[in-house]
Parts: sequence; structure tokens; C-alpha cells
Amino acid sequence: MDSSNLMDKITALCKRRGIIFPGSELYGGLNGTWDLGPIGTLIANNIKNEWLGNMLSRGNIVPLDSSILHAARVWEASGHVTSFTDPLVECKICHERFRADHEGQIKEHEKTHDKHSWTEVKSFNLMFKTFVGPIDDEKNKTYLRPETAQGIFINFKNVIDSTRINIPFGIAQIGKGFRNEITTGNFLFRVREFELMELEFFVKPTESARWYEYWKKERLNWYLSLGIRKENVKLADLPKKDIAHYSKGTSEIWYKWPFMGFGELEGIANRGDYDLSQHSKYSGKDLSYFDEKTKEKYLPYVIEPSVGIGRAMLAFLLDAFHEEKKRIVLKLHPKLAPYKVAVFPLLANKPELVKKAEGICKGLMKSFVTVYDGRGNIGKRYFAQDEIGTPFCITVDFETLENDTVTIRIRDTMKQERVRVPDLVSLISRKII
Ligand code: ATP
Repeated sequence: MDSSNLMDKITALCKRRGIIFPGSELYGGLNGTWDLGPIGTLIANNIKNEWLGNMLSRGNIVPLDSSILHAARVWEASGHVTSFTDPLVECKICHERFRADHEGQIKEHEKTHDKHSWTEVKSFNLMFKTFVGPIDDEKNKTYLRPETAQGIFINFKNVIDSTRINIPFGIAQIGKGFRNEITTGNFLFRVREFELMELEFFVKPTESARWYEYWKKERLNWYLSLGIRKENVKLADLPKKDIAHYSKGTSEIWYKWPFMGFGELEGIANRGDYDLSQHSKYSGKDLSYFDEKTKEKYLPYVIEPSVGIGRAMLAFLLDAFHEEKKRIVLKLHPKLAPYKVAVFPLLANKPELVKKAEGICKGLMKSFVTVYDGRGNIGKRYFAQDEIGTPFCITVDFETLENDTVTIRIRDTMKQERVRVPDLVSLISRKII
């Protein structure tokens, strides 16, 4: 399948099945925004739960949910006001704007437009500006956060003082970020409003290289454990010239995107003590850490894995998308599947089957996110559930009424087994894990 075709198919599937809708579609759309539909919301929540669960289960990571708006000084201290920029060029003929470092798009423009002439490269700051309070002046100006990390750094001392947690430890945060990207595109890949999952893991400076290697492996394994195929994902260490001046090392987890080949899915950086030292300087408050055991005082280094949920979701959807002879199927890992189980009556016009199926569905809902479907014929129902990745479909038929057994159909193999209703919960639980 050619790559643009695959992206078109995924986008159409997402719209058709309530996974993702174009933002503000009713009013002609708003570039770089997408809305999660009912099914997409369930998938995104599963991704977030898997990420946060993985972090918190380690025992030395705590969650945080900071505000989206911070005092403008935060962004001065972090360097975003001066440096969170992309190089911008504009075509003087048609006034279309591009990122100067996205050579592919510039070449494409030159190929498709007979006349073109470029402006000098300018720095364009990606932060959305806004005003706090009723007066729109410079004094009240701040920004929508372009990342969640600064909310963690400015609460570093609060977390230590309130939890008594010791280094090495992490603070994990999930939340919205906003970037006024010069160009958007490739569906969820590059958008202007997105949710991020970020961990700041604080360590002793002398141990940062070891923890950096540790998190690179842990994060790659997370994708593999949730079903991303090995051949589609890899780690790439960035050369020094491509990383921030303060970074002691930056790597990316690359996914094999259909539109560009291997490219960034997640970033993992050893940020040194840059952020805490900047916030100490700008706030005038000492953010160093005192180690009770060794009596040492130091500014910790921080290792940061950071990924956009939309970008991760796109990778999971692409990897799971299979077009077979008679069906399209999302072979999502059961932990990510929006519904774990669907329950159908064989015939929707037989009240005794409907009643029994509804009862079984209600029972399963206590253990799994379960959906009831009594529309159309059974083939159509399987087709619809395959398209949203439901791993198990249960059909209630006349035999069910006689001996309390149902058929369970497995999404990936389409094989059906006859099982006892009381055994369903344990059987499905075993298959999901
Ligand atoms: P680029 O250089 O491609 O603009 P970046 O290196 O600035 O990206 P980071 O700041 O490392 O990106 O962002 C961390 C993660 O957030 C990325 O790995 C990606 O998963 C996600 N992300 C960043 N920008 C966007 C965006 N515009 N749309 C969707 N996800 C994004």
C-alpha cells in the first residue's frame, strides 16, 4: 500500500468510527487541531493509563498536574521567550510560510510553483500569547505552555518538601501543550494543540549517564510491550550539533512513519541541571537538593522522556492497521483497545436472546469496558468491531438459553470457541494481560 494511501485510509477510518474528527469541522475547520471522538477518547485514555501506570508502579515516581498558564517569568527563565523558535521563510510571491529547516517542503514548493522568491530566514517564536486578566497589555502577557515540563521544575521544591521523596526520583505529568507550528500536517503528527506525557527524573549528576541509558531502554520497551512491531521502532542518538546547548545527550525513539520513514516519536534528553539552575537564578530561591545520607548538597540533573499522545496514538493506529481480504482490522494491543468485549444477540428480534445478551453485557461491564451491539446482522457487527479493534466478540444464541454457553470470537484469528458464561471473566482477563 503506498504511504499517502495508508494515511488517507487511517484518517477516513478514524472519522467513520468516531476515533478522531477534524477540529471545528462545522465551521470549515481550524488548522492543526483535531477532536477525539468517543472511541478515540477511550484509546487515548488507555495510552495515558498505561504510561502513568508504568511510571507510578516503580515506586519512586509521583504524579503532578500543574496549571497550563504560568507566570511569564517562568518562560523567560526556561529560555522559551528567547529560544523556542523555528526558522521561518516566506515565499514573496504567494506569501506561503515554511520552516526553513524542512527542506522537503521547500523543494516541493519550488517544484510546484513556477515563480518563487524567498525572504531571509527569520526566527519565529512558537508560543501562543495570551493575557491574564481584563487588560491586554505587556504587563499581563503570558503564554499557553508549549510543554508541561516547566510546571514540574517550578514545583520541584514543593514536591520534595511535601512528599519527602529522595533522589533518584521522578515527577510524571500528562497535560495539554500548545505550539503555534509554522506548518502542520500528517494528521496527528504535527498539530498546534496536543497532549504530552512527560517525566522529569532527578538524579545525582555523576549518575546521570547511567540513568539516561536506562530510560532510553525503558521507553523503547514500553512501545514494544504494547505491540509496536520491532522493525518499526528504534532508538537514535542525536549528534551534538542537533541538540540544545545545555543538553548532555539527546536521543529519540523513531517510528517508521509512512510519510517520511524513520522519524521522531518520542524525545529522551539528559538536560543536566539547566532548568533547576535557571529557575534558581530567576526566582532567587535555592532549588538545590540536600542528601541527608551523604550530607551532600547539589543541583540534580534531570532525564526527560517526552512524547505527544496524539503522535503515539498515530503510531499505535498505523502499526495496528491491517487490510485483509474481507475486512479492515485494528490489531491494537488489548490494553489499548477502546472496548475489550462486545456482546451481541444472534438475532435482534428475539426478546429472549436480547434479554440474555443485555444481562451478560451488564455483568461483563463490571470487569471490562464492554459494548452491546444489536444492530444489523452479525457479519456487520463483527466488521464494525474489527475496525475499532475490539479483541473479543461474544454472541448469545439459542444454545445459550439451554446451557449458559456463548461463542467468543477472537479478533485477530477470527476463530470462535464455545465457552461457559461463568468462565468469561477469567478467560478474557487472562487474554488481555
Ligand atoms: P520538532 O523539532 O519536530 O518540532 P521537537 O524536537 O521540538 O519537535 P519536542 O520538544 O522534543 O519536539 O517534543 C516532545 C514530543 O512532543 C515529541 O517527541 C512529539 O511526540 C511531541 N510533539 C512535539 N511537537 C508536536 C506537534 N506539533 N504535534 C504533535 N506532537 C508533537
